[in-house]
Amino acid sequence: MTPLTLSGQLLLPGGPQSGRLTVEAGRIEHIAPQADAPTDRLILPGFVDTHVHGGAGGDTMDGPEGIAALARLHARHGTTTLLPTTITNPWPEVLRALRAVAQVMRAGGVPGGADLPGAHLEGPFISPGRLGAQPPCAVDPTPERVAEVLATGAVRAVTLAPELPGALAAARAFAQAGVRVGIGHTRADAETVQAALAAVRATGGQSCATHLFNAMGGIEGRVPGPPGALIADPHATLEVILDGLHVHPTAFLLARAAAPGRVVLITDAMRAAGLGDGPSELGGQSVTVQGGRATLPDGTLAGSVLTLDAALRRAASLGVPLPELSHMLSLTPARSVGLHDRGELREGLRADLVVLSPDLQVQATYVAGVAVG
Ligand SMILES: [Zn+2]
Repeated sequence: MTPLTLSGQLLLPGGPQSGRLTVEAGRIEHIAPQADAPTDRLILPGFVDTHVHGGAGGDTMDGPEGIAALARLHARHGTTTLLPTTITNPWPEVLRALRAVAQVMRAGGVPGGADLPGAHLEGPFISPGRLGAQPPCAVDPTPERVAEVLATGAVRAVTLAPELPGALAAARAFAQAGVRVGIGHTRADAETVQAALAAVRATGGQSCATHLFNAMGGIEGRVPGPPGALIADPHATLEVILDGLHVHPTAFLLARAAAPGRVVLITDAMRAAGLGDGPSELGGQSVTVQGGRATLPDGTLAGSVLTLDAALRRAASLGVPLPELSHMLSLTPARSVGLHDRGELREGLRADLVVLSPDLQVQATYVAGVAVG
């Protein structure tokens, strides 16, 4: 097989460069300057989505078929790695979804889809008082339940409300198992969040804000709350849903200014992503999508119908330069979930690539050197 060669404007760790890269056996084998490379092709590391429930009619809770549908849909939008994300459901359903992710991983992933290095367990270890659009099936993170989800071998990230009984011990156990601990769907005060972040840090683990500003209250001078504690912590990465609905542009720019190198763009997409307006479903609840806004019958904002290329364009329109954006979409999320073999264009790393036009539309996506979509 002749090795794949791509020419264009490469977004390298040191900055953009006119050049070409050669792919062999799924890895970036060689990067070289090329003065006459096409100027209308931007080549970036593929995007990494650490929080995505669904897309193209499929949802993580559906099992292998749903996971395949969402992995393919998001790959067409430049995402080369994603963590299928569960929703708060009765405990057996949560376990079943995690086992399905493990099954897909053991089978070698989804042909034509993004790589799946594990799941994001979002719920059920969340506050019953801050469910957002999650169904009311929250439970406490007992040692038995934590052991049970870890035994599936699928969990790479978890969302915890740190005020729940047993949450500190759970945070330690997850961090020790190499699982990124996200603080979210919480009514905790800043001090409780700080205690959880310290516990994760003490084990050498990674911490994160699960969709910063959503389902965690706001920031006030005397009441910094979870967002204040998470932004102020120098080690926590900060997931942001930049769809123009979940977070005000200024709130995103605040996080970016206060936490350089720690913002991670996610989709939090649901099964309706990629399908346009109409009726849909989230965690067994009916959802209506209108004008790209997904809501529950009571008007609560549900998940998004976002894809990461759209998030990229929105952030670019807010004045964020491409190298910084690439960090938010690829390098920072990859490192936050312990993936060191991807996230930037470097010889020897996985050939996870996205080719963009000058107006930032996806022209091609490669997962380990194989064109998808
Ligand atoms: Zn959520």
